[in-house]
Amino acid sequence: MSGLADITARIHAAETKAGRSTGSTTLIAVSKVQPEDRVRAVLDAGHRTYGENRVQEATGRWTPLLEDYAGLDLHLIGPLQSNKVRQAFGLFQWIHSVDRPKLAKAIARIAQEEGTCPGLFVQVNTGNEPQKAGIAPAEADDFVAECRAMDLPVAGLMCIPPAEEEASLHFALLAKIAARNGLTGLSMGMSADFEKAIALGATHVRVGSAIFGARSPQ
Ligand SMILES: *Cc1c(COP(=O)(O)O)cnc(C)c1O
Repeated sequence: MSGLADITARIHAAETKAGRSTGSTTLIAVSKVQPEDRVRAVLDAGHRTYGENRVQEATGRWTPLLEDYAGLDLHLIGPLQSNKVRQAFGLFQWIHSVDRPKLAKAIARIAQEEGTCPGLFVQVNTGNEPQKAGIAPAEADDFVAECRAMDLPVAGLMCIPPAEEEASLHFALLAKIAARNGLTGLSMGMSADFEKAIALGATHVRVGSAIFGARSPQ
């Protein structure tokens, strides 16, 4: 699978350039909307870490694949409604889109009931874009504290920079907010900018089209 091998090689080169150890970045292959044959090809190449942005669609796709492939690590990278939290718990090991108190409370309640919780990333709207999900940078510290007070396992922060701005500025801002909150996880960088994200400390890059090819419009 040339897409996967190529991206893995570029990730390792970016790690070396940044003085980081090889393999210190987790590659989340974003399989949303991709045809099943492309996803199976990457699975057959041995990759086990995938990202999806809709709970319903992901459940339909991965329920059968979970029978065929062991060791999958699934990341929810898209918006989560409070009433879909239980379903998300059933499929995902990680949720990258914790972005408001109501959702955090729903996650805490269900974690209590189920006795387990996926690893969590707080999504920060680093560009303060009105149409975009994520907690405002100015509210991030308080929100992280609120999540911790509920015993939620916050592993790090996630962002999606504004399309028309220099992504590095947003990656640097996310890294700064994470550092002052004692968080080590940084979910940042997509097909167009994952090397810049690795240079600024990304622990998780979310790469879709550069691995699988262009997505057909939904
Ligand atoms: C779709 C998506 C990606 C992957 O985007 P590509 O440009 O295809 O790499 C990454 N993160 C999120 C949150 C996404 O929705």
